[in-house]
Amino acid sequence: MLESDWNWARIGPAMNLGIYIQLPFCQSKCTYCNFHTGVFPESLQHPYVSALCREISGHRSFYAAAGIAAPVGVMDGNCWAHLTVDTVYLGGGTPSLLPASSLAAIMDALRGGFHCAIDEATLEADPETVTPQKAAAWREAGFTRISLGAQSFQDKELAATGRQHRRADTYRAVDLLRAAGFPQLSLDLILGLPHQTAETFQDSLSRLLDLRPQHISLYMLEVDGNSRLGREVIQGGERYGAAAVPSEDLVADWFDHACERLAAAGYEHYEISNWALPGCRALHNSKYWNRAPYLGMGAGAHSFNGIERWANAHDPAAYAAAITAGALPIEQRSSVTREQALEEEIFLGLRLLDGIDLSRIEAEYGVNFRDRLPRLLEAGAIELTGRILRLAPARLAASNEVMAELLT
Ligand code: SF4
Repeated sequence: MLESDWNWARIGPAMNLGIYIQLPFCQSKCTYCNFHTGVFPESLQHPYVSALCREISGHRSFYAAAGIAAPVGVMDGNCWAHLTVDTVYLGGGTPSLLPASSLAAIMDALRGGFHCAIDEATLEADPETVTPQKAAAWREAGFTRISLGAQSFQDKELAATGRQHRRADTYRAVDLLRAAGFPQLSLDLILGLPHQTAETFQDSLSRLLDLRPQHISLYMLEVDGNSRLGREVIQGGERYGAAAVPSEDLVADWFDHACERLAAAGYEHYEISNWALPGCRALHNSKYWNRAPYLGMGAGAHSFNGIERWANAHDPAAYAAAITAGALPIEQRSSVTREQALEEEIFLGLRLLDGIDLSRIEAEYGVNFRDRLPRLLEAGAIELTGRILRLAPARLAASNEVMAELLT
């Protein structure tokens, strides 16, 4: 097989596409945030959304000019029109901050620019931004799923990290979204927030379980040196509660205990950070873990067509200016080498609790992991059942170390 062919073969005749839309606007910057998002002037929202709609409707000519092939086959690299968009995800930032009419315009542009048969359309929302009018308009625009950033049910933890909402806002938002008829709600919590204790985390988890959303994400906070909290952790200080950040060991214990409670409550743990009621896995995000093709549109959005990964310029004003001038502002672009693809198979595939087909990967990439397995099996870090390799449930909180060991 040619080097340029093999990863197309991996994807196969994938005719479905996920689309991610980046809306990088926030009301304020959370202390732990290291994303390329910010408190941009409201006056930028309209030109940004116009540029986004232009990128969506003009995607074929933008990609043709940039020489980006569609993920269908190397022999016919210009057939974006043959793809069916089945998942859409509007993330940020805080997409729910934008006027509902802007979000509806984006959905209309998607339906006009692509062949769509949408199984899941997710909108990220912060609880304090949800109103009855917005919830109804989002549903009307075609969103099927709201991912609500609850983060914690403790007002002290929310205030310390600069979140704009409080516990009462989350309860109110869930009621409004259910009244508006959303079939799917996903709520997330963060483990490791300043001032969080075993008791407050358990209480947040209990409150979340009482709400019984279809989907739950639990993220272990990785304090990043580029965030305000991260800088305080490194340099010291008292403003952001760095001294009250719980230890990694404590957080790992809470995570393990949370896995037991979620399983007992009927949630299927299908990805390291994600749980779902039966039939409610996140379809769009599953594409990332399965290395399925997706297009990212908007400032800083990443895309993958099977042979290349690329990202748009991060600065929203620069992005909007470039699109308006008729050029796709690609900031990073690289071909995926065989070695990188193998790493992705391990680092993304092992995030899924279904595991990876080791025999397929060994055959496809011409590698042999068998001599590395006994050590990890003995250490209880992995499980091997026939061809399927998966992380041991007890080692999920330390997954990166296990995956790295497998690749060395
Ligand atoms: S709302 Fe999300 S994207 Fe915005 S600052 Fe907070 S963590 Fe970052």
